[in-house]
Amino acid sequence: MNGIKEMNGISKHKVILVTGGSGLVGQAIKKVSEEENLPDEKWIFLASKDADLRDPEETRAIMKEYKPTHVVHLAAMVGGLYKHLRVNCDFLTFNVRINDNVLDSCKEMGVKKVVSCLSTCIFPDKTTYPIDETMIHNGPPHDSNFGYSYAKRMIVVMNRAYNMQYGCQFTSVIPTNIYGPYDNFSVEDGHVMPGLIHKGYLAKHKNIPFTVCGTGTPRRQFIYSIDLAKLIMWTLREYDEIDPIILSVDKEDEVSIQEIAEMVKESFDLKDEVQYDSSKSDGQIKKTASNDKLRKYLPDFKFTPLRKGIKETADWLEANYETARK
Ligand code: NAP
Ligand code: GDP
Repeated sequence: MNGIKEMNGISKHKVILVTGGSGLVGQAIKKVSEEENLPDEKWIFLASKDADLRDPEETRAIMKEYKPTHVVHLAAMVGGLYKHLRVNCDFLTFNVRINDNVLDSCKEMGVKKVVSCLSTCIFPDKTTYPIDETMIHNGPPHDSNFGYSYAKRMIVVMNRAYNMQYGCQFTSVIPTNIYGPYDNFSVEDGHVMPGLIHKGYLAKHKNIPFTVCGTGTPRRQFIYSIDLAKLIMWTLREYDEIDPIILSVDKEDEVSIQEIAEMVKESFDLKDEVQYDSSKSDGQIKKTASNDKLRKYLPDFKFTPLRKGIKETADWLEANYETARK
């Protein structure tokens, strides 16, 4: 890290700061960037212990310390449906503050390009399908995650305003549900995929019944964190629009929660039937997103098959259970 700080002042390297670098997506970008090891790119991965980005002074200080030329902004309060239902307001206020501080500091520091991360769950609840990038502001989001959604929607507005007034090259990506190693595997607070993989682990090792929350009928598109990392790195290097781009598997690859539960069951070689607790909320029934815009840029991009990604993630949790977030 110190080497990078010293080099930054005297070299023409891109210095790419990743906020939220310790999380699911940040760790995937770290892995891919280390494998690529490009000589003109220096990557820095921040965790919340380096700076609480809800605080403007701490945000400014960390930006001054590293003087990034480019920023991938991933840091956010993140969680699954049941956490959103509990602390909707925190999702709004924490994320508004983080995004405001990060983009303001990037403008002040003259950062050349910022790629921020939105999510397909921020789209209008009442909509036509498939959803595309033009539809973000067409109506209120689903009640279950409205705080997070409005905070994320404002990034699109801010990017446009920073570009109009200051010429900043700030853009954003819209991933679908993400999964992979280094996820938050909390059964209470996490997203459905890490939650089910953890439950699969507990069924195998502690004989706890493998129970899916809700009816299993809602449908989702899932992207493997390594695939998303490659696409975010492409966005940073090649994508020149200010308007966001959906980073998703094809709409034909959307699956039901029941289908992923069966894949998790297979990964852990569980014998008992999957159980469903239909007293728990289903949340949004679907949020099918179009990746037509992405396909125009990258028609041949190959996504990791879901079964393979789930198996790799389950194996990762088995190997890292003691240290994994859960
Ligand atoms: P994650 O694994 O929970 O990681 C969140 C990251 O943000 C961590 O590095 C965390 O640091 C950092 N962070 C949280 N609060 C912070 C604060 N106050 N100050 C500084 N850093 C803070 O999340 P993820 O799944 O990688 O998500 C990355 C991005 O993708 C987020 O913007 C999220 O909204 C978006 N996204 C996620 C999904 C999904 O399914 N996971 C889907 C669509 C979009 P610590 O590790 O130190 O706590
Ligand atoms: P969302 O995709 O933004 O709605 O958030 P999640 O990743 O939390 O997915 C929620 C969907 O998965 C809902 O339909 C839940 O009923 C279903 N689900 C089934 N089991 C679980 C679980 O163990 N955890 C979570 N978070 N969701 C689950």
